Amino acid sequence: MLNISAIAAFQDNYIWLLTNNNQAVVVDPGQAAPVQKVLAERNLTLAAILITHHHHDHTGGVKTLAAQWPEAAVYAPAKEPLPINTAIAVDEGDRVSLPALDLDFEVMATPGHTLGHIAYYEPNGTKGEPLLFCGDTLFSGGCGRLFEGSPQQMYDALSRFSQLPENTRVYGTHEYTQANLAFCYAVEPNNQALQQYMQQVAKWRQQGIPSLPSSIGRERAINVFLRADIPEVKAAMQNRAGAELTESVEVFAALRRWKDDF
Ligand SMILES: [Zn+2]
Repeated sequence: MLNISAIAAFQDNYIWLLTNNNQAVVVDPGQAAPVQKVLAERNLTLAAILITHHHHDHTGGVKTLAAQWPEAAVYAPAKEPLPINTAIAVDEGDRVSLPALDLDFEVMATPGHTLGHIAYYEPNGTKGEPLLFCGDTLFSGGCGRLFEGSPQQMYDALSRFSQLPENTRVYGTHEYTQANLAFCYAVEPNNQALQQYMQQVAKWRQQGIPSLPSSIGRERAINVFLRADIPEVKAAMQNRAGAELTESVEVFAALRRWKDDF
């Protein structure tokens, strides 16, 4: 049976570990050591590595892990420098089949945070819940900074995520949730779902429990970056801008700019 757990890395990164029997896959191993430790402790065989984008905190462990596990396939974005020469370049529309774990991912191009950023979507997932490994595109309560792409690109990527089934589990790669929710609250202080979720996350974090994965349904209810078309969000941003924002992408761009300095 598929099991998914978080391996903590750096200050606030999560390396997602997927296991089925003794077979394992890791997503965005920025460090090798914490992954090696878990694989050894649990007597797991590394079958594959999935990479969402080229940033070092997502790829730094690939060389070491690939050297230790030469059979493991490494999948990485086709439009970015590959983390190792033998990596398999994938992009929009490609599939990543991992029969060892009974998983079959669809690759989505999600430019914005970086230009070649990709996400891995498994529509059948587990227990009827689809899985989305979205790197630094979507966080709980937030989205990635626009280091390389445009607001329109990120808005389009998030709009596609927003249309996935509500019970899709969302595996972002950073524990940024509490800071993100403080920003959402500044935009939408009357959002009751947001208020309840803030209390829930505060409890989890006090107990050292990751706030991820989230779900598409939850993010649509609380994450202002998926709510640029909601009248309250639009009104708040027009107030702040002192100007009319006609398109939802303009609301989104204003949110992203504000969050950059929040
Ligand atoms: Zn990044």
